[in-house]
Amino acid sequence: MTFQDLKLIEPVLRALQEEGYTTPTPIQAKAIPIVLQRKDLLGCAQTGTGKTAAFAIPIIQLIQENPVEKFERSRIRALILTPTRELAIQIGESFSAYGRHTDVRHTVIFGGVGQKPQTDALQRGVDVLIATPGRLLDLINQGFVKLNQLEFFILDEADRMLDMGFVHDVKKILKLLPAKRQSLFFSATMPPSIITLAGTILRNPVKVEV
Ligand code: AMP
Repeated sequence: MTFQDLKLIEPVLRALQEEGYTTPTPIQAKAIPIVLQRKDLLGCAQTGTGKTAAFAIPIIQLIQENPVEKFERSRIRALILTPTRELAIQIGESFSAYGRHTDVRHTVIFGGVGQKPQTDALQRGVDVLIATPGRLLDLINQGFVKLNQLEFFILDEADRMLDMGFVHDVKKILKLLPAKRQSLFFSATMPPSIITLAGTILRNPVKVEV
C-alpha cells in the first residue's frame, strides 16, 4: 500500500514525500478512503498511530478539490476540536506540513494566551479551525467564529475530552453545527460514555480500529 494507492492529489503526495513518509500507517490506510468517500468515521486509535494525518490528509484534499466562491472565503469549512493546547499546536503543524502545497488555510486557537493574534488570524479567513473547547466558545460568544456553514467536524481524543470535563462545552458547540456535515470521531478507548457521545455526533459511521 502506498499513498498513491489512496488516490491522493499531487500537492498532498509531494508534501508527504517531503516529510519522508513512504507508507501509510494502518489507521491512515483504513481511514483515508472512508473520509474521501464523505462517510462519517468512528476511529479507535492511540496517539502515535498516525491518526492526525489520517484525518488531516483527506480533509485537506476535500477542501482543496472543492473550492468555494470568493465571496464565501471567510467561512470556516472544518473544525477540529481537541482537548489540549499541545495537541492543538501539533495538529496545526500537521496541517502546515501536509497542506503546504495547497491553498488550504488553517489556524489554531487555545486558551491561556492573549486572544488578539487568534482573532486577527480568524479575520484574515481560514478554511480549517483547530481549537480547544473553552477558547472556541469564548470566541463564538464574542462573534469572531461562526460555525453555521461548517462542512467537516472532527472530535479528536474524545475520551480525554470527557476526562478533562469538557463534555458540556462540547455539547454547546455541537448545538451550533449544521446537521448536514461530515463528522469524524477519534478516541483511544471506547467506554459506554464515549459510545453514547459518538452516537449523538455521527451518522451511519464506519468503524475503524487499530
Ligand atoms: P500521531 O499519531 O498523529 O500523533 O502521529 C505520530 C507521528 O508519526 C508523528 O510524528 C507523524 O509525523 C508521524 N507519522 C504519521 N504518519 C506517518 C507515516 N505514514 N509515515 C511516517 N511517519 C508518520
